[in-house]
Amino acid sequence: MIDKDYMIDTLQKLVQINSVNPALEKGGGGEAEIGRFIYREMQNHGVDVELDEIEKGRVNVTGRIRGSGTGKSLMINAHMDTVGVEGMSDPFSGEIRNGKLYGRGAYDMKGSIAAMLGVAKSLKENNVTLNRDLFLSFVADEEYESIGAEALVKKVRADEAIVAEPTDLKICTAHRGFGIWKITVTGKTAHGGNHHLGVDANMHMGLLLAELYSLAEKVQQEIHHPLCGPASMHVPLVSGGRSLFIYSNHCEIHVERRTVPGESRDGIERDLEGIIQKLKQRIPAFHARLEPVIWRSPYEIDSGRPVVRQLHRSVESVMNAKPEYIGHTWWEDSAIFGDAGMETVVMGPKGGGIHEEVEWVELESVFQLAEIFLKTAEE
Ligand SMILES: [Zn+2]
Repeated sequence: MIDKDYMIDTLQKLVQINSVNPALEKGGGGEAEIGRFIYREMQNHGVDVELDEIEKGRVNVTGRIRGSGTGKSLMINAHMDTVGVEGMSDPFSGEIRNGKLYGRGAYDMKGSIAAMLGVAKSLKENNVTLNRDLFLSFVADEEYESIGAEALVKKVRADEAIVAEPTDLKICTAHRGFGIWKITVTGKTAHGGNHHLGVDANMHMGLLLAELYSLAEKVQQEIHHPLCGPASMHVPLVSGGRSLFIYSNHCEIHVERRTVPGESRDGIERDLEGIIQKLKQRIPAFHARLEPVIWRSPYEIDSGRPVVRQLHRSVESVMNAKPEYIGHTWWEDSAIFGDAGMETVVMGPKGGGIHEEVEWVELESVFQLAEIFLKTAEE
């Protein structure tokens, strides 16, 4: 049995702690305070727990419950940071109405943290000895650069992992990745009246943007994944030029490309480089440079793998229904765990308002999630 009152009370406290990612919003609390809270709770439940400071004010908390047998080790993971709270009227209330608990992070993903702490409490109170090692890990910075997950995989390698990002109790076996590239077009500064001397980097960038627009249409039409939908591309930032009456010698953009499982970084760079070469051939003065900025792999696990099969059976037994399978269109830490060799699947509670101004989680789904995790760990 799991302690529902404990989970409600704990979730309320978790939401009341500001753990906004400080890289995303000034004044964000980071993970130091919420990490200490989780650390104490885990200690109270008799879990061997460590708190590691990765950067100032940024921590990971890792608990290990040793199993007696030789089964594959399992990690259940949640991130402790949240996105910002601008525009929210009462982001840290933890108020409960009609079975929903409100506040920033309630759904993404403090509901999952409460479920994981409920699992730890239940194992202790019922004197359960697991056949295999169970890691309960809580990481920093998923909403920005994932320094937490990157540090965690250097410390812990479980055989299998469940990332408890919100899925409305569906099983997520795939998600998109993304890459960011910077493209800089160089022109030649000149007086606005000296057209014979100037090379306009901004207008050259316009030609490149038109090519990118066509490529984006093609990508969305032709590259498709059954669970994640189409790949996509957009240009979130453009900047160029110095002043009126001067030919712009510099224009830069950032290209954001969302990938589906199976796509490679090399293939995408070839497409972008191809556009640059094509324009160079057409216009001798055209000059552009492509630079990689960030790459985050897409992720997919075969639904026949043991960790997915076990989760499937646990859902059936707790919910009395067959689970649904989904893909996420955004990137998650699961790709880092997958790349580190852990067989990883994603599942979390029901709710709404992710990264929006009103966010909530359905409490009943937090209890069900805890039951599902417990069953998965036990079996
Ligand atoms: Zn999240």
